[in-house]
Amino acid sequence: MARTMNFNAGPAALPLAALERARQELTDFAGSGMSVMEHSHRGKDYEKVHDEAIALLRELLDVRDTHEVLFLQGGASQMFAQIPMNLLEEGSVADYVVTGAWGEKALSEAKAVAKLFDADVHLACSTGTGDGKEKSYVRAPLPSEVNVTPRAAYLHVTSNETIHGVEFEADAARPFPQGGGVPLVVDMSSDFLWKKLDVSRFGLVYAGAQKNIGPSGIVVAIVSKELVAKGRKDIPKIFQLRTHAENKSLYNTPPTFGVYMVRNVLAWLKEQGGLPAMEARNRQKAAKLYSVIDANTGFFRCPVEKQIRSVMNVVFRLPSEQQEEALVAEAKKRGMVGLKGHRSVGGIRVSTYNAVEPAWVDALCELMQEFAKRG
Ligand code: PMP
Repeated sequence: MARTMNFNAGPAALPLAALERARQELTDFAGSGMSVMEHSHRGKDYEKVHDEAIALLRELLDVRDTHEVLFLQGGASQMFAQIPMNLLEEGSVADYVVTGAWGEKALSEAKAVAKLFDADVHLACSTGTGDGKEKSYVRAPLPSEVNVTPRAAYLHVTSNETIHGVEFEADAARPFPQGGGVPLVVDMSSDFLWKKLDVSRFGLVYAGAQKNIGPSGIVVAIVSKELVAKGRKDIPKIFQLRTHAENKSLYNTPPTFGVYMVRNVLAWLKEQGGLPAMEARNRQKAAKLYSVIDANTGFFRCPVEKQIRSVMNVVFRLPSEQQEEALVAEAKKRGMVGLKGHRSVGGIRVSTYNAVEPAWVDALCELMQEFAKRG
């Protein structure tokens, strides 16, 4: 069976090698006569997988001893609440930079938590214009636009806005906003592990696994030991980052099959040449798509400012919604799925995560050229 060319935004394409490894080991994991899902999370067989997944993450990102690597549950959405729950205290302030819909959600959850804790949440900058259905995000703030509260508990940024296709640091000219000593907390759900990252710059980075890391159900968090230690102790244990750091993410039953799949994906990533190889492959895929868009500006239109265009989620419009629907339909006939833009913004969105094959992007570019020629 030919593999579907999957451009979904998440859950997204997984490397075939990681899936095939799972198929091979499914009913007899490590000669145990049962699947990894049926093993105790306290047993040696599972623990080996768990430790390997953490070790691979540390190795790929060169995570030093200053930071913990955690596997958490509840999705990145739970982190929107869990981060302020850990880091806000009475009278403190958390700052948020909003460059798209996910940042809006993170801000809104932080406000709910802040109310409970007599703390404050401050919008350090928003690049949104318009309201409701017309709201759009197409640019990164200039450093001078970001108004950080001195001694804020943290500054929250969304690294890549999955819906709007807006990404910090895809281009060196658009670095993350700096907090002047305020810990930087970054939602990297849709652009984690596609290129190297100096983790020591961040207080906390987190990412839902279902784009570049594995299946849904796991959040990877890399958090400085300093922030873990600062975390509140009067919230339920299950929400304290400390609990998971102290228990190697084995405080309660983790999603064992998910962690196993993360291990498979990370092993594949390392085999491919690690993050430098991924970066070269991903930049090339995105560059091909943007060059077709830019070579046909009378037909395609990418609303996003060039220097902030996402390498992971390429968004664009055609002259009419009917033509967009026709493109999606024709793509489907040719074995390509997941191209419809998010329901809140419409248009086309091409997610080009690590596991998306360059040949799939070539096939899509060919189709786009045909559409542009037809007009
Ligand atoms: N942040 C970003 C940037 C996302 O793209 C998403 C999901 N697409 C989320 C947060 C929410 O993730 P989850 O569904 O895992 O809660």
